[in-house]
Amino acid sequence: MRARSFNHIPPEIIDEVRQRNDIAEVIMECGIPLKLAGKNYKACCPFHDEKTPSFTVSSERQMFYCFGCQVGGNTITFLQKYENKPFIESIEWLANRVGVPLPTQDQKSKEQAKKRLNLEELNRLATKYFHRNLLDSKIGTKASIYLKNRQVSNSSIRAFQIGYATRGSKDLLENAIRKGSSKQQLLDVGLIKDNENGTTDRFWDRVIFPIIDERGIPVAFGGRVLSPDVFPKYLNTASTVLYDKSKTLYNLYGAKSAMQKTRQAILVEGYFDVIRLSQEGVKNTVASLGTSFSKSHASLLKRFVDEVFIVFDGDSAGIRATVRGLNHLVKEGLKVRVMMLPDGQDPDTFVLHHGVEAFNERLAAAMNLVEFQIRRAVETGGLRQIDVKTQVLKDIADTLSNIKSRIELDQYINYTAQELDLDRAIIWQELRALGVKPPQSNKSKIKTKPNKTSLNPRHSIEQQLMEVLFQNPDFISIAKESFSFDDFKHPIFSEIAKVLWKVTEAKDNISIQDLVDECNNEEIQNIVSSFALTENNVPNPKIRLEGCLKKLNQFVLLDLERDIRTTALAEGQDDVKTLMELVELSKRRKQFNL
Ligand SMILES: [Zn+2]
Repeated sequence: MRARSFNHIPPEIIDEVRQRNDIAEVIMECGIPLKLAGKNYKACCPFHDEKTPSFTVSSERQMFYCFGCQVGGNTITFLQKYENKPFIESIEWLANRVGVPLPTQDQKSKEQAKKRLNLEELNRLATKYFHRNLLDSKIGTKASIYLKNRQVSNSSIRAFQIGYATRGSKDLLENAIRKGSSKQQLLDVGLIKDNENGTTDRFWDRVIFPIIDERGIPVAFGGRVLSPDVFPKYLNTASTVLYDKSKTLYNLYGAKSAMQKTRQAILVEGYFDVIRLSQEGVKNTVASLGTSFSKSHASLLKRFVDEVFIVFDGDSAGIRATVRGLNHLVKEGLKVRVMMLPDGQDPDTFVLHHGVEAFNERLAAAMNLVEFQIRRAVETGGLRQIDVKTQVLKDIADTLSNIKSRIELDQYINYTAQELDLDRAIIWQELRALGVKPPQSNKSKIKTKPNKTSLNPRHSIEQQLMEVLFQNPDFISIAKESFSFDDFKHPIFSEIAKVLWKVTEAKDNISIQDLVDECNNEEIQNIVSSFALTENNVPNPKIRLEGCLKKLNQFVLLDLERDIRTTALAEGQDDVKTLMELVELSKRRKQFNL
């Protein structure tokens, strides 16, 4: 019993977590727009490319199933598949979502969790402390004037909790110690550091931007100098227990709901870009803060949007490196659009000079990533040089190799062939070198669901029986009285029966949910979901059940009879034993009035 005994979380608690998290709500929160259609919800499937929705979610059964690609499961399976969360993390995430406390595994992790909470609290206090400094008419004047000059409004200062670290090199340290924090805690969150002058604050005489994580908790800080002769211009918290820059996007928390509504995100570089755009009403903006764009960033965004706009200025150094990072987004199935700004301008200065409408116009005209790579090569005149053209082709192939949709890929190959004046075969050659399989090999896609027409009569009865059982879990105990899982001859149905029989042993009142958790076989999870969510429910389930049981029993009896006779013949078994077995056989026959 894999899931039941998992990691010291008692089954009652797993049940409670499951009952309090509605599958439709969870799936929508993961960014999939579900629409009510009859008693189920529908959406375009997040696991395969489609134009008409076949991804079905049932609140009643707490299951999902895609009739297109035949993937299915419950809330936990969904998180495992869609967010790549392991089982235990999915439970933790769901428990957190509805505030069900989980028993922590051991003393050590309990302590770690407590330590983390304390550090988060310390960062909250520091955020307030910096913010108060900025608002203080005496201490914060210089920083306030600086922000005013950069046209940051008071409401932005409040919304982004912007603050000020005062001039003294130990101001925060002394203040926090007085309020009861320890030096070790301050070191742990990176607010102070040990150096040749002893222990000092990390930030002083800087405007402070708290970096808030997805849950709304400040995990790090960024500081901007006020005097032009101080370096570095920006200073960020180094990695800590709370902060991993490759997994954090500035303003993700603030941009979340706007991103979910528009299904689009705008990716910029710095604090002021985010603040400017947000102040002008473009709320779905996040920043990577100068870190190279990572796989974790991509999966964070994937949860909220379908499309990401990236803003480059004309002379951006390292565009190639940035594009390489953006391929992570393509791999996540996100559409990537590139928007260009005039030389030397960033979104902040551009919007200040030209207004937000001009920004939105450029946004509307943004190119896709492949188009951008080609245009850039054309504009720089590089395509006439063979080595440059080869490099461009390699870069584009790199991007193309991440595209999952075959139709999209094909269109891009055509486009690239045309623009670069190359044969499609040359592009395919590059793609094959990157492990992309040409279309022919894709035809033999394996269907997971046993095909009705290919089932023999016995398998077909087994399938019908399974379907009735899944739509009416109350019947499981009836079926179990007459059959063992070995009686099912189709390997998949036998496996499902095995799990089904096992689960009903442990619990009287079983749900399909328990089953899905118990099956560690993905193929079986998918089939189970299809049984549960199939559109046409069996009309007279009781009659169908009895019919199936009767027919299945006929098959079982035939087997049994054949077995008895063959062993009796082969081994010259004694007559009494054979007789006993035949009596048993006729009893079974009577049971079903055969
Ligand atoms: Zn699908």
